[in-house]
Amino acid sequence: MRKPRDLLSAGSAPSASPRPVTPRVSARSMYTLHRLLEPAQGYRRFASWLEARPRLRAAFTSAEKGVKHQLFGCRMCGQCALPVTGYACPMTCPKQLRNGPCGGVGADGSCEVYPAMRCVWVIAVERAGGEGRTGDLLLLQRPIDHGRWDQSSWLNYWQGRDEHLWTANDGLVVPAQLHVADGQAGT
Ligand code: SF4
Repeated sequence: MRKPRDLLSAGSAPSASPRPVTPRVSARSMYTLHRLLEPAQGYRRFASWLEARPRLRAAFTSAEKGVKHQLFGCRMCGQCALPVTGYACPMTCPKQLRNGPCGGVGADGSCEVYPAMRCVWVIAVERAGGEGRTGDLLLLQRPIDHGRWDQSSWLNYWQGRDEHLWTANDGLVVPAQLHVADGQAGT
């Protein structure tokens, strides 16, 4: 079992405070690209080959960081949620919320922490909705492994390490008292 120190050395969250970022590419183009990059044997082999070569792996990860930071404000959490958030990065939310916005979103869609900026989850709803993917936003995002910061999410994706990042079924039983009968809400 890895000790806390091992986990910290495996990756560390960036020190810069997250700020909402509006992606620089359309969601449609990214959905199309994503279909071309879905895990396949060739990608898996390439990922394994790269991971056996630390220098190449570092160069690949650095290239990913450069590209994704420019396009999405990526902070290299290593477990990418973009495919189900309209390609708006939830880690640029100042509160780093991966399951929708907080209660502080302004009526005009502004961020509570940085009012001059749009809430990244408002951006996600607009982008996913524009492509008929609103249902993606109902998926439950599981907590990430903080030991994977600074890793390549592309390699993790091809290697199947983030297959359980989100789920349509959280397995929770809704308590009976939360079942509000029609017409009783607000009473
Ligand atoms: S890897 Fe993490 S920080 Fe980077 S774009 Fe994806 S969700 Fe955002």
